[in-house]
Amino acid sequence: MLDVAIIGGGPAGLTAGMYATRGGLANVVMFEKGMPGGQITQSSEIENYPGAPEVLTGMEFMESWPKQAMRFGLKHEMQEVLRVSKNSQNTFDITLGGGKSVQAKAVIVCTGSTPRRAGFEGEDAFFGKGVSTCATCDGFFYKGKEVAVLGGGDTALEEALHLAKTSSKIYLIHRRDTFRASPVTIEKVKKTPNIELVLNVQVQKVYGGPMGVDGVIVVDKEGNERDIKVPGIFTFVGMHVNNGILRQEDGTFLCDVNEGGEVIVDLSMRTSVPGLFAAGDIRIEAPKQVVCAAGDGATAALSAMSYLS
Ligand code: FAD
Ligand code: NAP
Repeated sequence: MLDVAIIGGGPAGLTAGMYATRGGLANVVMFEKGMPGGQITQSSEIENYPGAPEVLTGMEFMESWPKQAMRFGLKHEMQEVLRVSKNSQNTFDITLGGGKSVQAKAVIVCTGSTPRRAGFEGEDAFFGKGVSTCATCDGFFYKGKEVAVLGGGDTALEEALHLAKTSSKIYLIHRRDTFRASPVTIEKVKKTPNIELVLNVQVQKVYGGPMGVDGVIVVDKEGNERDIKVPGIFTFVGMHVNNGILRQEDGTFLCDVNEGGEVIVDLSMRTSVPGLFAAGDIRIEAPKQVVCAAGDGATAALSAMSYLS
């Protein structure tokens, strides 16, 4: 029986693990299906984490987090969790990929969020062959070439700026003429000579052949089409929360969630189910920042400790 099971090894999960073990809990396991670090490892740079003035890639930035968290006894199992449910002993059953299951007295869900698909024709067919959601992973393939970026939030604009350093030209495609990104980022984009703003258009389709993407067709509100001949498009159209592990066999959620599927928590990261906590991007009104996810993780661990005592 685990004291605490932490599900997800991004900034929230790693911080929860550090606080729970440093706070004296002996049997704490963090289940992470991949390498610890979370979605920020896909970012080309992070410059807004307090106390870290150097601009690092997300991968470099997260490198020390697991080391620090494990120092106090946190165990990491590279396992996907399929479901969390409450049992008749008032503890939790955690079903793992491969059919194994473990029990825990308390659970902290830190499964974060993943990129949404935009929904245009050819997006799925060319995914990984010219359509990408990760500039850090795939930007290299477009060195010296023109490439498109879709979206108007912080991720799209920041990644467009990053790609503009190595690609010859970026077509930044957005469905409106105002952006959601922070003003400082918008300013930087507007001042970057090799970023062309393609505004008030929808992507109709990407087209290509066996070698990958050849171009992107966008269409404006009057129905005028434009063919942008690029070998790739990066889509950054928001995230959806990874709440699947909370779905029970009957299709209901283990705890209360809002209409967007975000887990409803109080200021102590307690969900509607005693002993179940949620932290980071998965929770309601998450600012979707590393510093906030880490803060949530610490809060959730302190609440779990107080629940157990
Ligand atoms: P995540 O980082 O999403 O981590 C969740 C972890 O859970 C993942 O590692 C995942 O593999 C794991 N997981 C999911 N489901 C399961 C399962 N069923 N079983 C086991 N493991 C599972 N924030 C900033 O503050 N500054 C920035 O500059 C910044 N830039 C960003 C750039 C990009 C490209 C992106 C995508 C995000 C950026 N963010 C930035 C936002 C920031 O990354 C997130 O707010 C933060 O990572 C959320 O942390 P988290 O721990 O809640 O979730
Ligand atoms: P986001 O803020 O939700 O922006 C998504 C963008 O995609 C919006 O501009 C949206 O258009 C557009 N869009 C959505 N669906 C679309 C579709 N089907 N087709 C075309 N366009 C579509 O998402 P994000 O940029 O990934 O950011 C997620 C969160 O992480 C935000 O809270 C953000 O602030 C945070 N984040 C922070 C940093 C940082 O602090 N430096 C960096 C990255 C991300 P509309 O504007 O018209 O809705």
